[in-house]
Amino acid sequence: MATKYDEAAYLNDDNNYESLKLSEAIEYIKRDEKHYQQKYHGRLYCPECHRPQIGIVNRNNNYFFRGYRNAVHETECNYGFETVKSDTLQEFALEKENRAFLNKKLQRFVNRFLNRANNHIHNLLLQVDNNRCIRSDVDHIDINNRRNIRRIPTKSITAPFDNDDFDCYMLFYGIVDVLYSKIEKAKVPFYKLTFFKCGTDYKLCSLNFYENVAMYVQNEYQLNIGQKLSNMCVAFFSVMEKENDKYLNARLKHSELLCIASE
Ligand SMILES: [Zn+2]
Repeated sequence: MATKYDEAAYLNDDNNYESLKLSEAIEYIKRDEKHYQQKYHGRLYCPECHRPQIGIVNRNNNYFFRGYRNAVHETECNYGFETVKSDTLQEFALEKENRAFLNKKLQRFVNRFLNRANNHIHNLLLQVDNNRCIRSDVDHIDINNRRNIRRIPTKSITAPFDNDDFDCYMLFYGIVDVLYSKIEKAKVPFYKLTFFKCGTDYKLCSLNFYENVAMYVQNEYQLNIGQKLSNMCVAFFSVMEKENDKYLNARLKHSELLCIASE
């Protein structure tokens, strides 16, 4: 399958790579497509290893960065590996003894996203044996031998969603404004984190959970009901569902499968 990206590396006129997020590319295209093509066409590469070229495609009135089939990445590039199957990853995440391991991955991912660390390049790789993920960090030898290594799929919540981004267990992330609320009028009251495009009232998606998870989430991140926090980096493991054919919502089963940090 062609690899999907939420970000590309743009080779500029000075022969340096600049990061171009999909959401930025889309804004650019909507403003001036001709200029976008002149500037970026044929100059976008894998965001991590900069080796294979990537392109932008228009699907269902949205744009997506796509790699070419059988593109060759540098040996240790995360994107050079197939993704873990949804059921395999979900099964792993729901086992109690694996959650601290995945929480560490979320924290590293957030730190890397916020540029606080750049030494966890293999953070998204997992060893998978007989459809079971293995709870240990992969090392260079395993990666070089390509020994059952798979990548955890990731999806930016600030970029548009494609049909195959739904109903699949993965790591969602983004820098967003966060509103914490409690929904009392449901049969079983639940809690909700609503994620907004920064500085706007534009709802991207939400994450729901019950009281037993809320207790831990509230304590960990000192959230108050009704409070909106600006520019937070969030990352969570879940499945995104499209409710009523438009509203995007995911469920959080355990507090350790979420990480929130201020930018
Ligand atoms: Zn690469």
